[in-house]
Parts: sequence; C-alpha cells; structure tokens
Amino acid sequence: YAKERGKGTYQIFSENMNTSYSEKLKVEAQLRIALEKREFFLNYQPQIDLKSKTIIGVEALIRWINPELGFVPPNEFIPLAEDTGLIDQIGEWVLFTACQQIKKWQDEKGLFIRVGINISPKQFQRPDFVSKVERVLAETGLEAKYVDLEITENGLMQNRYDCLNTLERLKELGLKISIDDFGTGYSSLSYLKRFPIDTLKIDQSFVRDLMNDHNDQAIVTSIINLAHNMKLNVIAEGVETVEIVNFLNEHHCDEMQGFLYSKPLPSSEFEVFLTKLKQHETKLILK
Ligand code: C2E
Ligand code: MG
Ligand code: MG
Ligand code: MG
Repeated sequence: YAKERGKGTYQIFSENMNTSYSEKLKVEAQLRIALEKREFFLNYQPQIDLKSKTIIGVEALIRWINPELGFVPPNEFIPLAEDTGLIDQIGEWVLFTACQQIKKWQDEKGLFIRVGINISPKQFQRPDFVSKVERVLAETGLEAKYVDLEITENGLMQNRYDCLNTLERLKELGLKISIDDFGTGYSSLSYLKRFPIDTLKIDQSFVRDLMNDHNDQAIVTSIINLAHNMKLNVIAEGVETVEIVNFLNEHHCDEMQGFLYSKPLPSSEFEVFLTKLKQHETKLILK
C-alpha cells in the first residue's frame, strides 16, 4: 500500500504493519460516517490562462477533517474509499457540491469559470456514471461546458471500450475531459488519438524541478508540443516559482496552476482572493 503513494504525502500508516492495519480500519470506519457528519468540504485552486493572465477555471479538491483523526489528505483516504466502494457516494457529493458552487458564483458574482473535478476510475467505470452526471447538471442548473472531468491515464486504460463509449456520451453532453497527471501512468499514447480528450495536465513531478533538470524540460516541452499538435489544451500543475512561469510562457503552455498563485482555498477564502485581485486589477500581476 505505502509503495503506491507519492513521496511527500504524510503517512497515517506507519512502518509497523499491525498499527497500519488497525489505523486503516479506523480511517475506514470514520470514512463511512463522514458524509453524514458533513466532515468533507471542497477547496478550489485557481487555474490561470497564461496569455490573458486571468483565472479561467478552478480545480475542486476534497478535504476531510475528522475530530479523531484530524486532517486526512485525499491521497490517503481516496484509495480507501475506492476499496470500500464509498467512492461512489463521495464522488457524487463532490460532483454535486462543485457544480452547485460554480453555479452560485455565476448567479451571485457574475463569475463564469470552469471547474475541474477529479473522477476516480472506479466512479468513471460505473455503468450509470453518465446519467449521474446528467442528473447533477439538471439539479444544479450548471451548463455542461463549465465542467471539466479530470481522469488519470490509468483510469482510462482499465476498460478501454467502455471508456470510449462513456467519454463520447460525456462529450455529447458538452463536458470537457482532462487527462490528469499526464505522463505518470501506465499507458500507451495510442489512446490519445482515439479518445475525445480536451486537455493534458502535465504532472507536477515534471514541473517541480523544471529549472534544474534538463530531462524535465525536455518532457514538459514535448508534452506541450504533443498537445498542440493534437489540438489539445495543456496545463502545468505544481507551479511554484516565477522562473517556471516564464519557462512555460516561452514554450507556449496554455494554462497553469500552483502554489505560486494560490493554494487550494475554501470557497469563502477563494471569494476573498478574488475581491483582492479585483481591487488591484482584474488581471493577475505576473512578474
Ligand atoms: P491532483 O488531481 O493531481 O491534484 C493536484 C494536487 O496538487 C492537489 O493535492 C493540490 O493541492 C496539489 N498542488 C497544487 N498546486 C501545487 C503546488 O504548486 N505544489 C505542490 N507541491 N502541490 C500542489 P491534494 O489536494 O492533496 O490532492 C491529491 C490528489 O487527491 C489529487 O491529485 C487527486 O488525485 C486526489 N483528489 C483530490 N480531490 C479529489 C476528489 O474530489 N475526488 C477524487 N476522486 N480524487 C481527489
Ligand atoms: Mg486533478
Ligand atoms: Mg494532477
Ligand atoms: Mg495526482
């Protein structure tokens, strides 16, 4: 289990197998009742268009604070939610809450931005996934074109033919599809030419050390070129320095997101962030 997780994430499961198993059971038990107890909320991280220097989207990221366990990062509990089947309910809550928030910002603030929503492979592969999405759009009144579903390569490769069908139906509804963590999965590139995809999200592991690593530079510029040659949008994740922004600009990357501009923020704090931006200028000041 521990091997699969990215480095740098904090670990609930210690080296000791016994504690790790009982900890896992504890987290699972708490996870089962977390929805009822309203312990989840969403944070929103702005996505910035490099040309216009404006916020054109946000990524919704789930947060869980449990009275007993404290803050549990999604990299820890999403896999458990997948194992236990709880991901369906949690995923539906995320979808509904994110769409409702974006519609609210449209209605109350005249803010028309897109929302990236992470979809777990298990959730995506359910036969009723598309109808659930359709229902959430109807219930929240949000137009499909504002919704960008983020799916990883591995998620798309597990059951290829059904995936194609699901993607086509989502595209027909008018949603956007992004490949999350692009370049880190186990997959052939051939799916890119068969699947109706809109955006490649360059994984932050290639972006983090971009200025010091020539291999990362080669990978990032190649992904940008690949995307553009295939008429896809490309977004860099994990942008933390101005130097990286300049590099991405020079290589015509379309969009970026990262701690340099903002950490993922609760909805109320995101509103404050927007107000502050507006007081100075509507555009972000890029150094
Ligand atoms: P992801 O979809 O690739 O999300 C990007 C992650 O990078 C987020 O971590 C975000 O907080 C972090 N990040 C953004 N900018 C920077 C930066 O400049 N530097 C660094 N070091 N990190 C940055 P987070 O929120 O902990 O989420 C981790 C993963 O958990 C997500 O990766 C996604 O795979 C999953 N996840 C999060 N929310 C959901 C959800 O609602 N549903 C599902 N199924 N998965 C989710
Ligand atoms: Mg994502
Ligand atoms: Mg990612
Ligand atoms: Mg990820």
